[in-house]
Amino acid sequence: MAYPRSLEHLIEELSRFPGVGRRTAERLAFHVLRSPEEWAKSLAGSILEARARTVRCAMCEGVAESSPCPICADSGRDRGLLCVVEQPRDVDAIERAKIYRGLYHVLLGAWNPAEGTDRPQLTLRSLERRVRAGGIREVIVATDPDLEGDGTALAVHEALSGTGVKVTRLAKGMPTGTGIEYLNRAILADAFEGRRVL
Ligand SMILES: [Zn+2]
Repeated sequence: MAYPRSLEHLIEELSRFPGVGRRTAERLAFHVLRSPEEWAKSLAGSILEARARTVRCAMCEGVAESSPCPICADSGRDRGLLCVVEQPRDVDAIERAKIYRGLYHVLLGAWNPAEGTDRPQLTLRSLERRVRAGGIREVIVATDPDLEGDGTALAVHEALSGTGVKVTRLAKGMPTGTGIEYLNRAILADAFEGRRVL
């Protein structure tokens, strides 16, 4: 049985989300149909508002409503420490854990050289520029504890090899295969505390 055209369109649009297949898109679409109209309006509005209001921070490449973002603009933070993460959600996780008071750099991706794929457009150039501009005494690589995270940490190390800056990586012992964003405060604190020079 074919769906009405408008419903089919919604299902097609939802199935464009990463990791969302046809079946999940159908479930989400029917959830929208069953929900109050107010919620549907709020959902549609929030998508447009987030698109319209957010920008990429020119310093850390993170997502914010201003550039520089509130973290980069905060003079109370330790500007000699730079924590390199894969995604904006990792910044959010580390900030919520309240264990770190330095600045961030968001790579906007990860790379596993063993997969043989080309290196994605990581923000390594702007990272190198920031380090070369001076004032940073340590770069803490906080990529995920998995193969992609390892490959990405290597890429960061290579990109910064000519700068002479100290590059460290979060301690092993984080559960392998778990994203930074899922780690609890205690494990994150241990990982920062036990970081090793790369
Ligand atoms: Zn920023």
